[in-house]
Amino acid sequence: KIRLENVTKTFRTFRAVHGVSLEIASGSLVALLGPSGSGKTTILRMVAGLEFPDDGRIIFDDVDATQIPIQKRGVGFVFQHYALFPHMSVAENVAFGMQRRKDKADVARRVGELLELVRLSGLGDRFPNQISGGQRQRVALARALAVEPRVLLLDEPFGALDAAVRRDLRRWLREIHDELGITTLFVTHDQEEALDLADEVVILNEGHIVQRGTPEAVTRRPASSFVMEFLGDSN
Ligand code: ATP
Repeated sequence: KIRLENVTKTFRTFRAVHGVSLEIASGSLVALLGPSGSGKTTILRMVAGLEFPDDGRIIFDDVDATQIPIQKRGVGFVFQHYALFPHMSVAENVAFGMQRRKDKADVARRVGELLELVRLSGLGDRFPNQISGGQRQRVALARALAVEPRVLLLDEPFGALDAAVRRDLRRWLREIHDELGITTLFVTHDQEEALDLADEVVILNEGHIVQRGTPEAVTRRPASSFVMEFLGDSN
């Protein structure tokens, strides 16, 4: 379970996130949805420990994690442009976060399991430029999972891909999520993606949460004209 309590983040004089409070249940898949500049990425980066709030707290399973650095938070993340290492094979990319494991056979076995999980068995020896964009994002997810995170953070992971591939990956991500039951926070500006994928949608505008609820609830009862128009854009 992750809890944000009254989290605020200001860059110089610009307040990107205003007093956001939010609880993410263990094992759920929650989408942060909002237009460009609404603060989604900043919230995700604070949960990751890449950015620290000026005010408020971030709690992981009842432990105050607000000041804990990223390496110690147990998070895995995939960003739209979080490129794979081009000079390393797919298997080496996945193994990258497992350096501390000394036993080579153990690492190889675990890489095999992860590639099977992301449905890429058999592609371990290829290089990133020898696989498709969608496959690269699958590898990035396998790499994120290699550190056995308790939380998965995804920032527009399918942003650069075309619509059909995005739809496939969405279904695939949902399957993987259900298989692993890992708490997942997903950032997108795409209404359709959020409504299709998430257990719960958190809608942001100008650094504030303007509504949260299940996809059905926010679609049926938009809390404001902003939400109505924003969700309406996908139709
Ligand atoms: P996008 O979908 O475009 O990524 P977003 O909803 O993820 O948007 P954020 O990236 O969180 O929005 O940015 C929120 C606001 O904070 C933006 O106006 C952005 O310009 C500003 N901002 C973010 N990071 C910084 C920074 N390091 N320095 C200054 N301003 C920043």
